[in-house]
Amino acid sequence: MSGTDPGPRSGELRVLHVEDNELDAELVAQALRRGGLSVSIVVVQDEAEFKRQLKTHLPDVVIADYNLPQWKGMEALELLRGEGLDTPLVLVSGALGDVTAVECIKQGATDYVLKDGLARLPEAIRRALQEKRLLRLRREAEEDLARKAEELARSNADLEQFAYVASHDLQEPLRMVASYTQLLAERYQGKLDETADKYIAYASEGALRMQQLIHDLLAFSRVGRSGAACQSLDCNAIMDEVLLSLSAAVKESGAVVTFDNLPRVWADRPLIAQVFQNLIGNAIKFRGKAVPEIKVRAEATGAHWSFSFSDNGIGIAPEYAENIFVVFQRLHARTEYPGNGIGLAICKKIIERYGGRIWVEGQVGKGSTFKFTLPAATPKDGVPRLELVGAGQ
Ligand code: ADP
Repeated sequence: MSGTDPGPRSGELRVLHVEDNELDAELVAQALRRGGLSVSIVVVQDEAEFKRQLKTHLPDVVIADYNLPQWKGMEALELLRGEGLDTPLVLVSGALGDVTAVECIKQGATDYVLKDGLARLPEAIRRALQEKRLLRLRREAEEDLARKAEELARSNADLEQFAYVASHDLQEPLRMVASYTQLLAERYQGKLDETADKYIAYASEGALRMQQLIHDLLAFSRVGRSGAACQSLDCNAIMDEVLLSLSAAVKESGAVVTFDNLPRVWADRPLIAQVFQNLIGNAIKFRGKAVPEIKVRAEATGAHWSFSFSDNGIGIAPEYAENIFVVFQRLHARTEYPGNGIGLAICKKIIERYGGRIWVEGQVGKGSTFKFTLPAATPKDGVPRLELVGAGQ
């Protein structure tokens, strides 16, 4: 059967109609035009013709009779998808039971219209085209998002690599500068004039400080580089270890650290120990006039553990709550409180490595509470285990 239109004009909707009955084809054409659609229709009745017209007519939409003598409308859909086309297909049928209709839609037909209800066809086609447009937009948005995520991951990896290489390779020349300024200081101290002594002292101090910064930057970029060895960790045992290594600071400040019933988490031991140590070390370092009181708690929230490390120290103004987690960001001069501003950036990197979040709450003069989340799931069975172990001190 040949097309009922000579060929599509611009702006016309191209319809490929699979139908063996000439009268039915005419009724469909009338229904479309009555419904206000400007269409160019090509009617075909078998597979070979369908395939041929698919290439030459390039339809915007396919209308197919569900039941043809030698062919089935749904096979047209298979052909479309086989060609990689997402052209919508609307079925037209004399009688299509609900079950069959649902099955056809499940298989990918966009809609179906009964032959005695053709007035609904234009609307069905408009909706099918709109659906296709929305699908395409969604797919494009998803592709765009995936591309951006990939770019971001790549640029993060590049940055990390850069920080690692730069800090690693800078160590050696810096060591030379530091050693030779030190030698200068030792050999010529008091032998030149006072200004020269001052300059040499500045140069040595600067070199030592830069060495410390590079050392810290390297530590930051090394987080997680040594290969993950996640295991089920008893956080009470980790606290014991951390308190042992901080025992001098605890003793000197008289700090009272309490924790009880900390949970097991699934993570790398040295990394979690590092987070605990940085937070407790800071709670002692940034103490106020009172003896430091540090409380470590954990509670289950969904599939995570929420930890809190609270202190009664100098506190943090809420406007700095985000800044302090950025590399080298500090709120005080080094003469006031020693440090390089890397500890919290390392904590953030570690916690985010496990898909967790870290933040701080508090007020100046009213102490601070650092909070973070860690997963409780064990990948062996994928089942989150929120179990508490042992008792702390
Ligand atoms: P550093 O301790 O070397 O300064 P951190 O990254 O550990 O670096 O901390 C960044 C800044 O956050 C600190 O300089 C301090 O201003 C603030 N800070 C961190 N912990 C506390 C705390 N427990 N109480 C008050 N301020 C804190």
